[in-house]
Amino acid sequence: VSEKQTLGFQAEVKQLLQLMIHSLYSNKEIFLRELISNASDAADKLRFEAINNGALLENDPDLKIKVTFDKAARTITISDNGIGMSRDEAIAHLGTIAKSGTKEFFTKLSGDQQKDAALIGQFGVGFYSGFIIADKITVNTRRAGTPATEGVCWESEGAGDFSIEAIDKATRGTDIILHLREGEDEYLSSWKLKSIIQKYSDHISLPILMQKEEWDDEKKETVIKDEFETVNQASALWARNKSDITEEQYVEFYKHVSHDFEAPLTYTHNRVEGRSEYTQLLYVPARAPFDLWDRNKRGGIKLYVKRVFIMDDAEQLMPVYLRFVKGVIDSADLPLNVSREILQESRDVKVIREGSTKRVLSLLEELANSDDTAQKEKYAIFWTQFGQVLKEGVGEDAGNKERIAKLLRFASTHNDSDAQTVSFADYIARMKEGQDKIYYATGETYVAAKNSPHLEIFRKKGVEVLLLTDRVDEWMLSFMQDFEGKELVSVAKGGLDLGSLEDEAEKKQHEETASDYKELVEKMKAALADKAKEVRVTFRLTDSPACLVADENELSGNLLRMLKAAGQ
Ligand code: ADP
Ligand code: MG
Repeated sequence: VSEKQTLGFQAEVKQLLQLMIHSLYSNKEIFLRELISNASDAADKLRFEAINNGALLENDPDLKIKVTFDKAARTITISDNGIGMSRDEAIAHLGTIAKSGTKEFFTKLSGDQQKDAALIGQFGVGFYSGFIIADKITVNTRRAGTPATEGVCWESEGAGDFSIEAIDKATRGTDIILHLREGEDEYLSSWKLKSIIQKYSDHISLPILMQKEEWDDEKKETVIKDEFETVNQASALWARNKSDITEEQYVEFYKHVSHDFEAPLTYTHNRVEGRSEYTQLLYVPARAPFDLWDRNKRGGIKLYVKRVFIMDDAEQLMPVYLRFVKGVIDSADLPLNVSREILQESRDVKVIREGSTKRVLSLLEELANSDDTAQKEKYAIFWTQFGQVLKEGVGEDAGNKERIAKLLRFASTHNDSDAQTVSFADYIARMKEGQDKIYYATGETYVAAKNSPHLEIFRKKGVEVLLLTDRVDEWMLSFMQDFEGKELVSVAKGGLDLGSLEDEAEKKQHEETASDYKELVEKMKAALADKAKEVRVTFRLTDSPACLVADENELSGNLLRMLKAAGQ
């Protein structure tokens, strides 16, 4: 099919384009970062495919990115000699949004530009950000390994549709040509483009080339030479010494690997030697992605072997409960031709996963245990964004259960708020004299848990109760019987023994009351014979006349409700 064809954008792309052009107007220069980021990904993909198929590199093995501009034509061109795109790939990748949950995401947009700008940033705009400064984009591309006649020209004005046409393209890879909007001429400058590259793309490990500029004494102006120079550091950021990397570079690199617009909450960068040799640069985002609960979503770790990109989303490198961690792991031991299947079995990978898990837990502990309020606040942010996911670790990672337990935060009767801020250590420090257990109440909501009649006696005695209302809580508790030797006890379970918290007079009074009501209890037992296993006088209530309790070894009411809801 050589003739030109016009195709419509996916509905979400149209929406994204409209919104982005308005909401990111104050942040225009990020278009260059996004397009360079894509060029770098394309080079990574080619280098990986070339491991098994050297012919893909043709006679052009040095991967690079070129940024040029044409003042007269008012265009900026970003070229790479990476993997390129076939016709089908261009249609799929530059006409639709591949991220899962895209539809749901767009239903969340409010129409309020400021709020939407923040959301869009979180979603990531990628290639389409070119339309912030361009009113037309031409993409000339050819997939590595296909003949020169199989080039593709994709073109769009960023409205409803794009055209696609077969072209001849001598070189493999992709040229993105931005035809600037009226009034965007400030970008037609070496100085301007160079400074944007240095600000956002210095961490890119490929050389980014621009034409040299020189002052011409006769013409009395700067002229652009044919000669190119590298304008970034062009070395893998994670392989550099920590002391040579600035905070800004770490942040920009995060945005590149995570496709996030916001700075990360925290990160850790280490070279590990010993049984397995690898470098890890791991980030905790500041905000949960909109698809955090998507079961098909893979992890956020890019795997490299000796600087060569191997794969995105190498889920074997991080346990599921740390799936929010983003970053790079570069192994010195794994073979270059490693596959997902090999990763699953590899001992090296197991060592890396264990080491990386410990690193992330230390990173979180540093925030949680810091005396610095800014750090502590970061932990609070982390907990609201990712706390529920971390809780999965209690069941999933037996080896680190104790460490994870210390990182847990709960709402509690100690505070009059649903904010989850109380740790087990906080709770233990406030335990009453004679109290040797940790009490908790579960419920579907904070209000329900807080108003549970089971709490009355605890309130009366001034004993704190943790209030657990997240979906995962009951499941998590089934893996956790105690914390540092202190048994975890549900306030809703039978035979609740606040024994050592009762004084002698109370005990005596309770015994007397029980014998006074013996007859009534017998009658009720008979009346409820097939409904209740046991009827007894209780002292756990102060305001309510009666309550139902679960047996010591039975599922709690809340868990039963959950299992029923799940159809079990
Ligand atoms: P993302 O980078 O998050 O996948 P983008 O919108 O930036 O999203 O890019 C969409 C897709 O278009 C990429 O995943 C890639 O498949 C393709 N693409 C974009 N730019 C290039 C390029 N320079 N070379 C090859 N493929 C590209
Ligand atoms: Mg991208």
